Amino acid sequence: MEDCIFCKIVNGEIPAKKIYEDEKIICFEDLNKIAKVHVLIVPKMHINSLNEVGEEEKEIISYIFEKAKDIAKILKVYDSGYRIITNCGEDAGQTVKHIHFHLIGGEILNWS
Ligand code: 5GP
Ligand code: ZN
Repeated sequence: MEDCIFCKIVNGEIPAKKIYEDEKIICFEDLNKIAKVHVLIVPKMHINSLNEVGEEEKEIISYIFEKAKDIAKILKVYDSGYRIITNCGEDAGQTVKHIHFHLIGGEILNWS
């Protein structure tokens, strides 16, 4: 989708520190880390947010959750633990309107 930052990262138009990539998803470091480990897992297909996940999108969402543990292993937080968050809409603070899953860890996480 035009003017979507994450579509541009997917297409290689904007650089990112890539952690993992396959034909369906890309994972890269968040620009503004909130923990020692903070990456974004992003489907290559453009979906605005969780509100748009239906029959056609559910497969990629479950794929992301299947791959999350492999990414956690790459980041060496598989054993210590990690958190996955998706922000949906304004009140949640979603700033990029291309669905993404924050994987954070590498330290003890408190709710904030
Ligand atoms: P949201 O608030 O929408 O859940 O999260 C968007 C995240 O994307 C933020 O944590 C922000 O730091 C990150 N972000 C925004 N633009 C870029 C970018 O161009 N590159 C990378 N690597 N992260 C970005
Ligand atoms: Zn997009």
